[in-house]
Formats: sequence, structure tokens, C-alpha cells
Amino acid sequence: PGTSGAVALPQDKQAQSLQTSDQALDAREKIQQVRENLPVRQVRDELLRVIRSNQVIVVVGETGSGKTTQLTQYLREDGYTRSSTGARLLVACTQPRRVAAMSVAKRVAEEAGCPLGGTVGYAIRFEDCTSPETEIKYMTDGVLMRETLSSPDLDKYSCVVMDEAHERSLFTDVLFGVLKGVVQRRLDFKLIVTSATMDADKFSRFFGGCATFHIPGRTFEVETYFAKSVVPDFVEAAVKQALEIHLSSPPGDILIFMTGQEDITATCQLLADRIESLGEGVPELLLLPMYSQLPADLQAKIFERAKAGQRKCIVSTNIAETSLTVDGIRYVIDSGMCKLKVFNPRVGMDALRVTPVSQANANQRAGRAGRTARGFCWRMYTENQFVHELLPAQVPEIQRTNLGNVVLLLKTIGVRDLLSFDFMDPPPKENIVDSMYQLWVLGALDGAGELTALGTQMAKYPLDPPLAKMLISARELGCAEDMLTVVSMLSVPEVFYRPAERAEESDQARERFFVPESDHLTLCNVYNLSKRQGFNAGWCAKHFIHRKAVLKAHEVREQLQSMVPAPPHGVKAVSGTPAWDLVRKAICSAYFVQAARLKSITEYVNLLNGASAALHPSSAICGIGETPDYVVYHELVLTSKEYMRTVTAIDPHWLAELGPMFFSIKGHEHLGRHDIGGKMVAGADSEDGTGHGSSSSRPAAAG
Ligand code: ADP
Ligand code: MG
Repeated sequence: PGTSGAVALPQDKQAQSLQTSDQALDAREKIQQVRENLPVRQVRDELLRVIRSNQVIVVVGETGSGKTTQLTQYLREDGYTRSSTGARLLVACTQPRRVAAMSVAKRVAEEAGCPLGGTVGYAIRFEDCTSPETEIKYMTDGVLMRETLSSPDLDKYSCVVMDEAHERSLFTDVLFGVLKGVVQRRLDFKLIVTSATMDADKFSRFFGGCATFHIPGRTFEVETYFAKSVVPDFVEAAVKQALEIHLSSPPGDILIFMTGQEDITATCQLLADRIESLGEGVPELLLLPMYSQLPADLQAKIFERAKAGQRKCIVSTNIAETSLTVDGIRYVIDSGMCKLKVFNPRVGMDALRVTPVSQANANQRAGRAGRTARGFCWRMYTENQFVHELLPAQVPEIQRTNLGNVVLLLKTIGVRDLLSFDFMDPPPKENIVDSMYQLWVLGALDGAGELTALGTQMAKYPLDPPLAKMLISARELGCAEDMLTVVSMLSVPEVFYRPAERAEESDQARERFFVPESDHLTLCNVYNLSKRQGFNAGWCAKHFIHRKAVLKAHEVREQLQSMVPAPPHGVKAVSGTPAWDLVRKAICSAYFVQAARLKSITEYVNLLNGASAALHPSSAICGIGETPDYVVYHELVLTSKEYMRTVTAIDPHWLAELGPMFFSIKGHEHLGRHDIGGKMVAGADSEDGTGHGSSSSRPAAAG
């Protein structure tokens, strides 16, 4: 080090860099030691031999055995990142979760001694941290799926490790079928499927009985305790248990499984309060939350070692179940719950729902306590509940979520007959047909189920189909600039900051950004004003705006902007306030199935299925002035009742113009609130209340 650069560093910089490289050497030695001691290291050569003589291999190993961090490096060491002609090739490793892709890439870059984005990089939606030097690429399964659109044979890649296959995430399941084709077409391509559980046989059968490789594990016994009676409040129960462990059990870190940001924050808060109330003399408990929206630097803290005399307590979503392994955990507390994405046919959308885990999840969670020594697991549910109420394994995501995106992507890569696509566990036929129907409504498929020109354009954007349509409509109307902002702001976490102790103050701050007819435009306003201030941190804090979220939206916007072609001939681009009516119309073009009519003050009814929903209290629309007669909404959230969140007022004429399959204008001259109505109402055609149109107009599932 230090001799390679043509650029001479100033003296002090040189000294500094020598010093840090000494420290780095030390750290690297330690890291190499850890690598040497992982279970997968003991079988490295044998595993590489099996990979050399097989095209598809299923690798099974306990969590923490080194699959995710080591396999890619072994493949690189064995020459898979060079073609026979010496050209650079990539080894990919797919992850179902963005957080895991980022965090693992960072770790592997450290192990390989390169900057992140150099030899080791990652790619997640809207964030490509790779370079021409990259040889090992961690990525979400969704990103790899998208890459098959432009490169059906994935020519840049020599190997793909499909990691966490047991999770059965939506795109992992789709990739199974897609990559099976690549394996058949490219004899030089290797596919490695890893799993932490015993689904191995099923995976192997899917790939025609391919080789299976077991990494011998070293695990210790975990003593498991069930709740004696049904637990009314799992946060409270978990906090109590954690305190008891902390005060009376020997050293060892605690891992608590919760469902998401809210209950994780609540658990940490409650634990901190209880410990404080115990007064001095209580040993320190280092509380570390872990969830996907947590800033990356705080996420990284879970891997830091606790100081002497300190005990670590990680409170995490199911990301710590198999994706991330933290060493030193001896005590696990399992709430028995997780958040799952499920399709709600009544509202036609996916929603995250707090659901009991499966027995397989519960056993994985318990297993986290026994990696380095004998461990203990407390379950916040009874044995009876475990046996009788928990499913043996979770239903794969592909069988419970909206398939709009999947259908669009598969159609784009030329899969004509979706019902006969090679799915490991095919989704229910109705799900496919429903999703095709929704795409037809948006104009992405024609009556025969074939991709339209609009559908082809929509598939080019890494967005949900309605968002893609919004952008395309806006481009045709000449207001793409503002819509880019709206879509980007919808693609990032909440931008408004609302701390409980300053709720009123922050609400007032938010109101200053309100555009009375639209929450979408309010978001646009926030972005424009923040940008005008150069995303100044002080300004953002003063106005209760999450600077990171707005900056992220800025990044997303730059990326999306490069994908939007110039407006079509004859359309003049407009931007700013006069264009905002057009923006609302473009929103309506994608969300007219989520249109509602005013019933009373802030109560609305969905025009198609008659379900009532209220304006969300945070909406700009209920903040100022009169509530509009007609609105479309981005999503429904269920708390004490059903709320429409992110709402925009629309002109009812637009409904008839943009959604003629649903809406007509009754009575010719005057348009009042009763004149526009859905042609179909709930139950007219489908019993599940989705209110879908007549079956004759449904596209055929098989193309
Ligand atoms: P597997 O994929 O088989 O579950 P991993 O490759 O994820 O195993 O983990 C191997 C080891 O690397 C574990 O001991 C884990 O604690 C460690 N490790 C992974 N990420 C980090 C990190 N960011 N910091 C420190 N150690 C890590
Ligand atoms: Mg792993």
C-alpha cells in the first residue's frame, strides 16, 4: 500500500494513511480469522468441486454458517469472475430484502478489503452501488428479475446465488421459473439455491433432482418456554421477560422479535423507562432497534460488540430471523407475530398485516439463541397456540399478494400463457386472472390478454403499474416534471416528522405546505420548497421534514427522470401551479378504480364497491376549506376505521373519460354529484365484493 498511486499525498496525509492502514491490517486479520472459523469454511473445497461438476446446486446450512457472506467469495476465488477469454463476469447473490442486500455487501466488501461499490457492490431499487470493477454483486431478487427484461440470458453473470430461498419471496419464486430457463440455455451458467431450512428436497425436485449440499452445522441446544396462558399484550410481556433475563441471567445478548417499527420503538421505550425506574445499580442494557426504515448507520450498530459489563438487547423485525446473523445472542424472546404482505380482495390492494408467524419461523427464531452456546427462548404464546393455531410454514408470497407487477414482467419477457408458467407453487388462478384484469383496466393488456403499447412502456419503469401509468399519462399531458416529483415522493418513507411530544406543533408546520385539493401536490410542494432551500438541514428540522426522505426522493427522481422520454410531438411541457390540474388528471388516469364520492363531511364511499372510507386526519384535503365531492386515493389504511391516505380531488368528468368501462355520465346537461356513478356495484358480478366488471370483458388468462 502507498506505492501504487501516481498522486503524491502530502506528508501528514501520508502518515495518517499509514497509520490507518496499520489499523486496517489488524482489523483485516481479525476478519480473516472469523472467516476461517465459519462452518462453511470446513467444506469449502468439497463444495467448489460439487459446483464445478453441477449446474444447479441446492445448499442447505444453518443460519450463520456463512452461506451469504462466503459463497460469493469462494466463487470469485475459484475463477468464476473471469471468462475463458479473460473478460470480467459477475457473481450475483439475490436477497429478498433490501436491507440485507446492503448490509451483507458492506460486510463482504470489508472482508474482501475493498471499498463498497468496488469489487463488491450491491443494487437495490433506485440505488446502484456497483462500478465497472464489481465482481460480486448483492442485489434484491426484484432487481435481478428486472435485469432479465433487457438481458434474458443474464450474460454478464457466471453464477447466481439465490439466497434465502426458504423465504419464498415473490420475486424469488418468479426467478425460479425464469432462471430454470437460463440454466437450460446457458451451459456455462451456475445456479446455487441456498436455504436455511429443509425445503431442500422441494427445490431440488423443481430443478429435476439437482445436487444438494449440506453444510454441517454446529448448533447448541435451545431450551424453549411457552407462555402459560394467552398473552394479551406481547410488547408488555416481552419487556417483562427481557427485564427478568437482564436482571437475573448470566451474560449473553438478548434478541426480541417484534413486527415492525411501531412495536419495536414501543418496546425499546418501555424497556428504557423500566430500567430507569429501577434506579442506579442496574447493569447497562444497550437497546438496539432494527427495522428496514432505520437509518443505515443505526442498523450497523447491531453488529458492534457490547462493552464489558454491558448487555446488548436487539429488538428486530423478522430480518434477524435468517437474513442477518448477530453473534453472541443467547436469549431469544419471540412475540409470535410478524408483518406480512397480503392481498385484500375487497380493496384490491396489498396491505401489511400483523399475522402470527408459522411454526417454521418460530423454530428459526428460537435457533438464533443456540449458535455459540446453549441458549434459551421464551415464546409469548402458549404451546396450545403453537400446535393448533400456527401454520407449519408460511404461505409463499406469490400465493397471497397482488401479481400485477409479476404479470407485467412475465408478459414482457414473452410468457404468453401465465397459467402454464413453471411456478414451484402456482398462485391461485383467480389471483392471476384478477391481476390481469387490473392491468386491462389500466390499459396495459388488451382484451386477449396481450401486452399493449402502453403496457410495454409501463414495464420499463421499476414502479407498480399504476404509478408507471401516472408518469406516462403525465408525459402525454405535458406535466411529467411535477409527476416525477409526486412519484418519487410516494416511493420514499414518510417525509413529515411527527414526534408524539410535539404533535400539535408539527401538524401546524405541515399545514403550511398544504395544497388544499391534493395530498399528492402537497408532497410536490414539500419537495419543491425543500429543494429551493438546497435541502438545508436546519430548514428541514424547523419545518418537521425528514431531510433524509426528501433527499432520497431527489435521488429517486433523478433516476426516474432519465427513464422518461421527451413529451410526444405537439405536447408542450408545463410545470408549476397551472400544470397541477393536469397532474391531478394524470393521477386520476391510474387510480380511477380508487375513486370515492363524498357522503358526509369527511366520509366518502368508494364508487365501485360502495365501501365507506374517511379522509385520513393528516390529509391536506380535510385541513382547509370545503371537502371535494369526488376524490381518488393512493391507499387505504385500517386503524380504528378505514382511512384513505394520500388523496386528490378530481373532476367527475375525468372518470367517464378515463375509466369508461366503469363510469358513465347519467343525465346530459348538468353534472351533479349524483350523475356520475359506477356501472357495477359490489356483488353485481363477483361474490367477493371486488366489484369487478362483466366477465365478458375480462382478458383471457392464457394469451
Ligand atoms: P448465513 O448466510 O449462512 O446465515 P452469514 O454469511 O450471513 O451466514 O454469516 C456468517 C457470519 O458473518 C456470521 O457469524 C455473522 O455474524 C457474520 N456477519 C455477517 N454480517 C456481519 C456484519 N455486518 N458485521 C459483523 N459480522 C457479520
Ligand atoms: Mg444468509
